[in-house]
Amino acid sequence: MKKLVKQVRFEGKLWDLSIENGAIQEIVETSSTNKDISTYDAEGLLYLPTLADMHCHLDKHFLGEPWRPLQPFITLPKQLKFEKEMLSTMQSSLEERAMILSELMLSHGTTKMRTHVDVDPEIGLKHLEAVLQLREQLKDVMEVEIVAFPQQGLIRSNSVGIMKEALRNGADLVGGVDPAGLDRKVESSIEAMFELSSEFDAGVDLHLHEPGHLGKYTIDLVTDYTRQTKKQGRVAVSHAYCLGMLSDAELSDTMTALREENVSIISSVPIDRPMPRVETLLDAGVTFKLGADNIRDAWSPYGNGDMLHRASRLAEKSGWVTDEQLIKAYSFITNRSLTPKVGETADFMLVDAQNIQHAMASIPKREAVFSKGKLIFGEEKTLNSEYISR
Ligand SMILES: [Zn+2]
Repeated sequence: MKKLVKQVRFEGKLWDLSIENGAIQEIVETSSTNKDISTYDAEGLLYLPTLADMHCHLDKHFLGEPWRPLQPFITLPKQLKFEKEMLSTMQSSLEERAMILSELMLSHGTTKMRTHVDVDPEIGLKHLEAVLQLREQLKDVMEVEIVAFPQQGLIRSNSVGIMKEALRNGADLVGGVDPAGLDRKVESSIEAMFELSSEFDAGVDLHLHEPGHLGKYTIDLVTDYTRQTKKQGRVAVSHAYCLGMLSDAELSDTMTALREENVSIISSVPIDRPMPRVETLLDAGVTFKLGADNIRDAWSPYGNGDMLHRASRLAEKSGWVTDEQLIKAYSFITNRSLTPKVGETADFMLVDAQNIQHAMASIPKREAVFSKGKLIFGEEKTLNSEYISR
């Protein structure tokens, strides 16, 4: 069905978007009304493209559950044991909790997510099956990428076999975590990830918390394997704290390799840890994206699933104040054009802000979220009569 969304603001003017088959067909300055088609009046609210959360965990959080007290992080193996114990006490099912977080994300305007999903020989494909079901349920409104994630360590937990099962059953990417700190076998861990990625024609996304030169060495291996296996554009390193711990001179070759092999860096903007220097990445031409990561889980009680909030945190932490910097920050949380384009999928949200930079600074609530032209969050509104009479 054809839909008209009227009085959407961008570039300082009001526009009408005509939408058909989920895509924007026409963009005209607001002037008159067409009563023959379904109409939504944006009443001058600002157009923003919907958001992409490139690093989340649908299977770890406690949303919808009674509050669970946490313990301070001690070591990674101890934390992994604690997480398993916590997750075994959940009252709601994995399916229910995956949907709770996805709905929260949709309400904030996130229509694309990359979720890591735990797999290991003990839990098997239980988490993956729940997330595959959710992906099917949300297929009309949300793009869901699934990373098979050997949280207990790919080699350490003997997870190569179950990773193959996960990739055979619908996971899109090969995950991994701390090849030194957890697996204690950097080369063979990275090699195993890329062998899986080649066998199943899958992307790669590695959780890397390793510090300093150890982290840099690991990233250099990742870019080497990306080159060898021709996986350019399909590999990411999440967190990469090490890129915030070494000097630009020390990282120069690593940055060049990241750009040349088109390996992207994904950050959750940690406040209490080092993070990659974004300007250095951008100057080097490296792709950079954001994810919310932990949201009220065994690792952190914080987080609200709002990627606009996350980008605003990055901008504030980085001391960015200019319009150019604030607009740039928005590009890390969307995979769409900042203003509507004819022929693009009609994925956008409406907020009460003057422009993108104002929205970045004020984090307004989402008044409406449209996915493929369908209003998925917010009140259905019809054209107000005051506007018609003018
Ligand atoms: Zn993570």
